[in-house]
Parts: sequence; C-alpha cells; structure tokens
Amino acid sequence: KPSSETTGDHIFRSKLPDIPISNHLPLHTYCFENLSSFPDKPCLISGSSGKTYSFSETHLIAQKTAAGLSNLGIRKGDVIMILLQNCAEFVFSFMGASMIGAVSTTANPFYTSTEIFKQYKVAQAKLIVTQSQYVDKLKDTSNNENFPKMGEDFKVITIDDPPENCLHFTVLSEANENEIPQVSIDPDDPVALPFSSGTTGLPKGVVLTHKSLITSVAQQVDGENPNLYLKHDDVVLCVLPLFHIYSLNSVLLCALRAGAAVLLMQKFEIGALLELIQKHKVSVAAVVPPLVLALAKNPMVAQYDLSSIRVVLSGAAPLGKELEEALRGRVPQAVLGQGYGMTEAGPVLSMCLGFAKQPFPTKSGSCGTVVRNAELKVIDPETGCSLGYNQPGEICIRGSQIMKGYLNDTSATATTIDVEGWLHTGDIGYVDDGDEIFIVDRVKEIIKFKGFQVPPAELESLLVSHPSIADAAVVPQKDEVAGEVPVAFVVRSNGFELTEEAVKEFIAKQVVFYKKLHKVHFVHAIPKSPSGKILRKDLRAKLAAATTTL
Ligand code: AMP
Repeated sequence: KPSSETTGDHIFRSKLPDIPISNHLPLHTYCFENLSSFPDKPCLISGSSGKTYSFSETHLIAQKTAAGLSNLGIRKGDVIMILLQNCAEFVFSFMGASMIGAVSTTANPFYTSTEIFKQYKVAQAKLIVTQSQYVDKLKDTSNNENFPKMGEDFKVITIDDPPENCLHFTVLSEANENEIPQVSIDPDDPVALPFSSGTTGLPKGVVLTHKSLITSVAQQVDGENPNLYLKHDDVVLCVLPLFHIYSLNSVLLCALRAGAAVLLMQKFEIGALLELIQKHKVSVAAVVPPLVLALAKNPMVAQYDLSSIRVVLSGAAPLGKELEEALRGRVPQAVLGQGYGMTEAGPVLSMCLGFAKQPFPTKSGSCGTVVRNAELKVIDPETGCSLGYNQPGEICIRGSQIMKGYLNDTSATATTIDVEGWLHTGDIGYVDDGDEIFIVDRVKEIIKFKGFQVPPAELESLLVSHPSIADAAVVPQKDEVAGEVPVAFVVRSNGFELTEEAVKEFIAKQVVFYKKLHKVHFVHAIPKSPSGKILRKDLRAKLAAATTTL
C-alpha cells in the first residue's frame, strides 16, 4: 500500500490507475471537447415542456449567452448570480459565463430576500439571472441605504416575462456569438462560486477553478474505465437542484463531457418523476437519501416501468442500509452506489466503482473508493496523526480538484486546507480492507436536512439578534425522513417571556424552509469551553439521551 515518503502518512489511493487530465483547458472547452462526436444528440431535455436542445444547440446558445453577458458589461473575473430552478437557461448562463472568464455563484431560488442578499454581497455579483416569480425578493423593502438597488447596482434578467426594470433572457440567448471577447483563461481562474459553511461558521464562497472542476469531472467520467457511471448513451435524471455542486458537477458537467442527455426537472414530485423516468428511459438517477426513500417506499412506484435504470447514485448525506435494500427490491437490475462529496472538495471525494457490477462490487453502506488522481488520508482528530485501515478518524483529501479556498477569507481557508494541501472535511470515517470508505460521524457543525446545508452559526446569529434571547445554540437531531433537523437551545434574556412558537416563527420568516427550527428547548445556559466555543457534542448527547432536564 502506498504511503507518503516524506511524512510517513498512510495514504489511500484509487483502485484505478491515474489518468492524464486535460485540466489546462478552460472548463467549457473541456466539457464540449467531444461535441463533434455527438452534435445532434439530445443534450438538455426539459421535463415539463419536453423541449430538447441538442449538444450543438446547447453549445451555440451558451456562446450567444457569453456574448450577451459581455454586451451587458460582464468582464473576466466578474460574478453573476444564477437564481434558477433547474432549466436550460441555467446551463446556458453557467457555460456562457465560463466562456468569458466570468464566475457563477449559484443560489437557491427558495431563499428569502435576506439570504439571497447575504450571498449576493459576499460574492459581489453584478447580474442576477432568475425567474419573474422571484424578482420581488430582489427588491429592497427595508429602505436601507446600503441595500443594493435592482437595475442600478445590479442587472436582473428573467427567463420568462420580465417585470419592470428587468431584461428578458433573449438579450443573452439571441446575442451574436461572433462577439464573444477573446479572453485568456488560466486553469487557476475561478469559474464557480457555490456557498457552503464548511466545517464551521457562516456560509462562505467556495472558489472552484477551471482546473478543480475539470479534474473532478475527469475523475468521474474520463479514462479507460469499464465502470464509468455515465456514458454517451445514458439519460441522466437532473432533479437535484443545479445550484448545489453535486448536481452541477456530477450530473450536468459530467453529462456534457460524456455526451449523456440531461433530463431537467424543476422540482421533485413523485408522480411526475416516475412518469418522466418511464417516458425518457432514464438510465442514471442521481439522488439523495430522501429520494431513495420515496422510490423505495411509495406505492405509486409499482405502477411504472423503471427497467431502464442502470445506475442509482446517492450522495449528499448518509444512506442507511435498510433503505438501500428496500430500493434494491424496486430496481433489481440497477447498480446502487453512493458518492461522498463536499462542496469544498470539488465536490467528489469517493464514488462507488461497481457500476458495471464487475470487477469492483461495492459493499452496502460504503461510499466507494477515493477518486483517481487524488490522495486520501484518515487522521486522528485529536493528534492529527494518520491512521491505517479500519480505524475511524477525520477524512482528508488532496488533489487538483479541491477548492482554491474561500472567497476573501484566508483564515477560514487556512483552517480547512493545511500547509501540505490537505483539505480537512470534518467527517469521521474509515477505509476498510477493500479500500472502501465508510462515513460514520461528523465532527463539524453542519446540519444536513435532506442533503441541504443548515449552518448552525447562521441560525444562532439570527436567534441572538432577538431582543429576548441572551444566548443560543443550534444542533442536529436525527430524523427518519430528513436525516437531520435543526433544534435550538435558547437562553431567555432576564425577565423576558418567550414561547417556543414565537422563537420558531421569528426564525421561519427569515430563512428558507429547510432551515426552520423543529424544536426549541429553553435552558439556563449554553455549555461552552473555556475559550467560549459551544460544546455541541454535549448538546447532541443531551438530545440523544432525551433527558428530562432540558
Ligand atoms: P455539501 O458541501 O453540501 O455537499 O455537504 C458535504 C457534507 O455532506 C459532507 O462533508 C458530509 O458530511 C455529507 N455527505 C455527503 N455525502 C455523503 C455520504 N455519501 N455519506 C455521508 N455523508 C455525506
């Protein structure tokens, strides 16, 4: 087994050999590199309208969008915000921005106005591409002078009928592709800026470069590998939101590169999903555990023909063995496997290699083996020493696919990527004798509701902004459907009356649905370390034990 000569670290590698990766190219060039092999094949299929764009059409409209963005003053290094449900315009905007060296920050369109502007401000976006139904959230209702003004500080483009002060998407998609400015793009230039709270604190901009995304896509779909999870004749289900890097990278970018068709669904609805799988003969389904639950348990599933499904890839949160088994009964012909990712890691750290059943069948509960052209180690969280097989510790990853760092936050970057280039995930796992990775716990703060990030620090800062709250802590509680839900421990300010409902409501109106508090426990004090850090472990243990002293 390989180990680092310099540090003596025990390093885990893929079972597949490294491959040459063209990560000197710009991302759009790399993704469309094989275009001439399948120009007329369907590339994007809208689940709702059935409208289909071939690979060459997708490429051309992306080029037009690049020229259109440039006409609107977007230059290399500028950031645009994509605030869209899954749709073809998402793809045109992202690839178009890449073509002029601009950067896309992708945000959840269900975010509240406050959440959108927090991201907008940190990312310093110059333009927002959205749907007219979300435009009201971009208007200032606070009369705050510092609030950016629509139409003045930033331009808004809608993909449907534009409300006042907005432009229609055709200003981009009908521009002249010959007017794309010539820009030189360095592999280390940023191209995507998703937000993630990482191991601690508030959401931060994760700088993913052309090189990081190309490396990650290549690790999944390039090379002579009989187990590739995506091939040119696949139809891949894109129901997971493209604003999250899992869907953006492992579904969209991988499909563009591999020549697979992407079936775009705006939102999850089981009947529509089953109908579309059957109609378009979906062969690869990228899902999250709550979707596995629906596919495994919903009685409607029995009425549809799902025999086209070859691969089910689950990621973003742990998948229980029972659920995996239940799904196996529903799609017996398919290979089920997990991928393990983290936005900062580009995002894929490991993936099931058994998609062709041979030669690497994956064990139940495993997240597969580390991707090619990368190194993984497991360290003792207390001592930092690297651990060998079957010993649980913090998973760390190194390779060209990881983020460049957090946007304008050198201190958060330094606590996440160490001087030797290892990205510390905050996940606890081990590698078994067969080189398979099992995630068993998390030492970081993040709560995952159906795979969505709920950063405790964000909710805590909102809670303590309430005049009747003196202190607060938010921790995850296990939940059968969502995986985890956020619950709060709250210390009331002296003499103030405050009900659980009032606290829940106070938070609910400021955050997207999955960050809402599910329970509030009133306590006299929040347990803290001498340095003032919330002792989250103690609170989690309290919840698990369901103590009556709460
Ligand atoms: P995100 O940055 O939103 O993708 O969240 C990354 C985190 O999700 C990881 O650090 C893990 O804690 C969790 N996660 C992702 N995939 C898996 C998986 N297959 N099993 C367990 N946890 C996972």
